[in-house]
Amino acid sequence: MSKFVYDFAEGNRDMKDLLGGKGANLAEMTNLGLPVPGGFTITTEACQRYLAEGHHADGLAAEIDAHLAALETTMGRTLGDPADPLLVSVRSGAKFSMPGMMETVLNVGLNDESVDGLSRQAGGNDRFAWDSYRRLIQMFGKTVCDVPGEEFEEALHSAKVGKGVKDDVQLDADDLRALVTAYKKVFAKHTGHDFPQDPREQLDLAIEAVFRSWNADRAVLYRRQERIPADLGTAVNVVAMVFGNLGPDSGTGVAFTRDPSTGETGVYGDYLQNAQGEDVVAGIRNTLALADLEKIDKKSYDELLGIMSTLEAHYHDLCDIEFTIERGKLWMLQTRVGKRTAAAAFTIAAQLIDEGMIDLDEALTRVSGAQLAQLMFPRFDLAGDPVSLTRGVGASPGAAYGEVVFSAADAVAAAAEGRQVILVRRETNPDDLSGMIAAQGILTSRGGKTSHAAVVARGMGKTCVCGADAIEIGRDQFSVGGQVVHEGDVISIDGTTGRVYLGEVPVRPSEVVQYFEGDLDPALANEPLVAAVHLLMTHADGAAALKVRTNADTGPDAARARRFGAQGIGLCRTEHMFLGDRRELVERLILARTEAERNDALGALQPLQRADFLDIFREMNGLPVTVRLIDPPLHEFLPSLEDLAVQVAVAKARGEQSERDERMLAAVRRMHESNPMLGLRGVRLGLVIPGLFAMQVRAIAEAAVALAAEGGRPRPEIMVPLVGAVQELETVRAEAEKIIAEVVGDSGVKVLIGTMIEVPRAALTAGQIAEAAEFFSFGTNDLTQMAWGFSRDDVEGAFFWRYLELGIFGISPFESIDRDGVGRLVRIATAEGRKARPGLKLGVCGEHGGDPESVHFFHEVGLDYVSCSPFRVPIARLEAGRAAISSAGSDHR
Ligand code: PEP
Ligand code: MG
Repeated sequence: MSKFVYDFAEGNRDMKDLLGGKGANLAEMTNLGLPVPGGFTITTEACQRYLAEGHHADGLAAEIDAHLAALETTMGRTLGDPADPLLVSVRSGAKFSMPGMMETVLNVGLNDESVDGLSRQAGGNDRFAWDSYRRLIQMFGKTVCDVPGEEFEEALHSAKVGKGVKDDVQLDADDLRALVTAYKKVFAKHTGHDFPQDPREQLDLAIEAVFRSWNADRAVLYRRQERIPADLGTAVNVVAMVFGNLGPDSGTGVAFTRDPSTGETGVYGDYLQNAQGEDVVAGIRNTLALADLEKIDKKSYDELLGIMSTLEAHYHDLCDIEFTIERGKLWMLQTRVGKRTAAAAFTIAAQLIDEGMIDLDEALTRVSGAQLAQLMFPRFDLAGDPVSLTRGVGASPGAAYGEVVFSAADAVAAAAEGRQVILVRRETNPDDLSGMIAAQGILTSRGGKTSHAAVVARGMGKTCVCGADAIEIGRDQFSVGGQVVHEGDVISIDGTTGRVYLGEVPVRPSEVVQYFEGDLDPALANEPLVAAVHLLMTHADGAAALKVRTNADTGPDAARARRFGAQGIGLCRTEHMFLGDRRELVERLILARTEAERNDALGALQPLQRADFLDIFREMNGLPVTVRLIDPPLHEFLPSLEDLAVQVAVAKARGEQSERDERMLAAVRRMHESNPMLGLRGVRLGLVIPGLFAMQVRAIAEAAVALAAEGGRPRPEIMVPLVGAVQELETVRAEAEKIIAEVVGDSGVKVLIGTMIEVPRAALTAGQIAEAAEFFSFGTNDLTQMAWGFSRDDVEGAFFWRYLELGIFGISPFESIDRDGVGRLVRIATAEGRKARPGLKLGVCGEHGGDPESVHFFHEVGLDYVSCSPFRVPIARLEAGRAAISSAGSDHR
């Protein structure tokens, strides 16, 4: 039979699943001999049973009886005894901290008789006893019986008005006695019965109310946001009451063993004299700095400091603490490993190494890629309380402000004049690239984290908020919630939180990025944060099994990624090289009627491509560079069908027909597809348009030979996109090998040929495909799209909110790898690929390559590298190190 109740002396800190965080740590402190009031914990399992069955599990009541009896013996008092009552608090405490989301009831055990006993215990302090009683009725009424809290507030307010005072503390014992009568009336009116006088009934009802509060709306919402599983349940802690409101020699406070915002060592916290814990949390009165306690009660202060260092030495980490002093006696009410800012996480981890408390491996477990990401982006300084316009999806982190523009051309023109702009579009397409480059940030009203705007912005490290669907975009203005923002007005966008503000919000740059860039202000070189980042990154690199490459398609991006620690390029998308002033050549290629015309266009593109690749190979000299042959459907390089059709029709009506436009329209119509993502793209293009891939292969090989001639060490890898059948790859490979052999000659240059695995069929036939591929790179964006049948550009904005709400998944599968489905395809392809070709190189270049959770998955699967946008390279490096350490840890176990 399950055991549902544990005395504090029976538990320990490793029992969080069963006892919740608070219960496990109260038990740990009890076992350390620290002054914890007596008590016991009812398990999360008892809560789960209650929620499933609607009543207490068999045996629970008897266990509570036994533990209560033991507590009464220890404390020398009986619950609610009229002469000398034991009072208890009933507190929630789940495995994961959910601050303020669930319920607590204090002073359980008070009734019309024991209130006098409490007064006697408090040395004849009637005021204190009646104040405690009215607090019980109020909390119990609200929490257990759903009595509207405002009614109690109103009764309290009337009592103060009646007496002509402003503060609760000005009400005396008689006023509070009368208030208890008023509260009881409120209680009876709403519940149809009197406030329960039986202490044991109070206790049982309070326990049930805490169980039920697991499913309170705010708790459900919080769990969803924090991705806490919905079925864990809360434990309930029943703790002997100690009082911080018994006079000036009593009080209550919170403390941190180090500063949770900077990590600095010292005494941090707040103290409130003559008060109960809820007063500190409610912020009703101004608190004192903890250091002031030394002057008020040196003995308790010294004892508290001693306990703080005991706790740090025991937990080897920053702890936060809640304590109460009852008439000069210190009691510990809670401790836990404290939450901290991202900066403090790094500095504290490094400090604890210096102090010999933890080693470097352990320190790496104390920080995360998500925290590093926070440190890398410039942040808004929100002290000025800016006007918030709306909130979209934080798609590419950072903080940017500028004048609103609505077209790429306007963005380019404004930037040329030195103005900062935010490009606002419904959605972006490859045509907007120049505007995206020119803008400080991008705001769209449609699309999610894998929309064009999001992917491109992340690649450039540019701030982007997507899918802000509350905004209505017009020609030269947008409106949101009744507010109209005109072209030229300044807005600020936060790519981390997705918030959009009106006006310019001041921005602070990141010193961590300066460090990675190698241009750190010398004055900051010894900053504890920068030193900590350096230490932990170095250790992560040493520990990692996965290499980290970058997705980059320009020389400057490649150079930056290299400074950020990239060990090569895992994906160079070549399609961006076909835009701008080269668009005209691409149009010529598409409209070509004869082989000669087509060869002419390809011939003009080839030296340009060669120069592009040489630039990138130079920046990545000595490191592998995977160049992907052109992937998107060619119509993306042509004008839109609707626009062109209108243009041609208007011209016709005016008698100004243009043969070129009409040919173009015919081509666009010919190429129009219902599902372009599943249409003529990737390897299919290469097989259908003669000479296209050949031109790119030749340009790659020639660029490599040119770098070798300069004395460099090129390591090109040619990657074929969207392969689903080995025959596709074999056809491309045969032609490519001929060209490479011809160009490379005896230069010593070696060119690998491999494929993306992004079509489910490719994953399932990986054994065959590996025969023709020297490497695989998982394109998890398309693989997710095709495995789920989710259009990657549409679904996040369209309906993912509902899927998240229903818990179909906890996070978008485009953001973090779906281990069970898409992940299974990756595992199958890895195993079959390696079986067919031992030594096959395996990487991932979809967006998941820079997602911390996914990096751990790719480490588990045993890939060779992940590839991600330059700004996520340090994050992936850190997570690759963490993944290696945590899997080594689990191997030992
Ligand atoms: C992918 O599909 O994961 C990929 C990297 O290719 P793209 O995003 O360019 O389609
Ligand atoms: Mg793809």
